[in-house]
Amino acid sequence: MSSFICDSCGQEVSLYDGVLSWYRKGRELGNFTITHRPGKHCSGRPENNVYRDLFRVASVKGYLAFVQYLIARWSEGCVLNDFSSLKKAIAQINSHIDEGIASLLGE
Ligand SMILES: [Zn+2]
Repeated sequence: MSSFICDSCGQEVSLYDGVLSWYRKGRELGNFTITHRPGKHCSGRPENNVYRDLFRVASVKGYLAFVQYLIARWSEGCVLNDFSSLKKAIAQINSHIDEGIASLLGE
C-alpha cells in the first residue's frame, strides 16, 4: 500500500494517523492538506477548521462522500480558493485507492 506524505512535517503518514483538513471561512474553501493528526510530533495544519479521517476519505465510499461534500458547497455558492492544494491532496488519495483496487484484482 502506498503511504502518504504529511504536508506539514514532510514525513510519511500512515492511513490511520492521517487527516485531510481544509479551512472554510464563510463561502471560501481552501488549503486542502494531508497531515498527521495534530499532536506531539507534528502540528498538522492548525489554521484549518474542517477535518476528515484519512482512512475514511481514502476509501471509495469516503472519497465519494468527500466529492459530494464539495459539490454541495459549490451548489451553495462556495468558492474554491486554491485548486492546487485540492489537486495535490486528491492525487495522493487516488494513488492509494488505485493500489487498493489493483491488489484486490491481484495485479
Ligand atoms: Zn506531520
